[in-house]
Amino acid sequence: TPYTAAINRYDEMLYRRCGRSGIDLPLISLGLWHNFGHPDDFKNQRKLLRKAFDLGITHFDLANNYGPPFGAAEENFGRILKKDFHSYRDELIVSSKAGWDMWPGPYGNFGSRKYLIASLDQSLKRMGLEYVDVFYHHRPDPKTPMEETMGALDHLVRQGKALYVGISQYSADETRKAARLLKELGTPCFIHQPRYSMLDRWVEDGLLDVLEEEGIGAIPFSPLEQGVLTNKYLHGLPEDSRAIRDGRYLNADSITPALLAKVRALNEIAARRGQTLAQLAIAWLLKDPRVTTVLVGASRVEQLEDNVASIRNLSFSEEELKQIEAVLRS
Ligand code: NDP
Repeated sequence: TPYTAAINRYDEMLYRRCGRSGIDLPLISLGLWHNFGHPDDFKNQRKLLRKAFDLGITHFDLANNYGPPFGAAEENFGRILKKDFHSYRDELIVSSKAGWDMWPGPYGNFGSRKYLIASLDQSLKRMGLEYVDVFYHHRPDPKTPMEETMGALDHLVRQGKALYVGISQYSADETRKAARLLKELGTPCFIHQPRYSMLDRWVEDGLLDVLEEEGIGAIPFSPLEQGVLTNKYLHGLPEDSRAIRDGRYLNADSITPALLAKVRALNEIAARRGQTLAQLAIAWLLKDPRVTTVLVGASRVEQLEDNVASIRNLSFSEEELKQIEAVLRS
């Protein structure tokens, strides 16, 4: 059936300015790292994207190697864009990245100009797009001069293949340097994509300060710790969970009794706030105005609804913050 977007799609979602740019991003963005590969149900992929857009999610995050196999998420996203979102392209912020292993040989990985430029060309073909809204260097590359990598990002913007550029997983010091280089080139750094959740708080130790000073937005990935910060694992390991279905990045052994004790304590705090644990985990990140948007994944539509409803309660009392801090430090 043909898709017409919900007319009330902008009524509930809230948007936040991304650094010192002209772009507002939805407080919740959707990433296609998992659940958009070729083995994944295409109908479900389509349902997820439609529901996301109907909920006011305008930002979709991809990378060259999301799948499996590599490239599959961009291909599937491209197919769905063509079928359903053709007339909504200008309402979307689509991102892609290069920086991890993508194709064989010395030119399909890390941070060379050769790799980044070829990779974005491939991504655009797979998605059927003329440009991405945001193109990222996916991780720092200590062996390539940062001048070369940032020069490639700037070049892609000048070619019209990306409107904005970002970096991912760069440390605070690396970010300061990248921001300076990009500024000198005349293409400011738009956004930084770090891992950040209640269970992984490295960004609080300097990176968020740098982002604020430099006017760069922040989009934390794996905010739910791949599902651990939800009610999913509270009563054992469900067959359809990421930890069981796909042990590559989250394996069953890492979900220890000690971790679950923390998760249970957080779940109780969430319940007292009238929230699910996923909603608490998202709201807790968004309480910091330096966090522009929270980048979730979802394997089904109900999860998206759950996650988006977090924006109904983003404020925390001192007492709640203290209780959360005590659990996280336990
Ligand atoms: P999350 O921490 O949000 O984990 C998402 C997973 O958690 C879902 O696939 C689902 O897993 C489960 N889940 C989500 N919502 C709920 C809910 N409400 N209730 C119960 N379970 C829920 O993020 P991801 O790890 O998926 O990362 C998000 C995005 O971040 C990626 O798609 C990608 O775009 C980006 N990313 C970027 C990286 C980088 O290096 N820059 C690295 C990793 C991710 P289940 O299958 O178990 O249902």
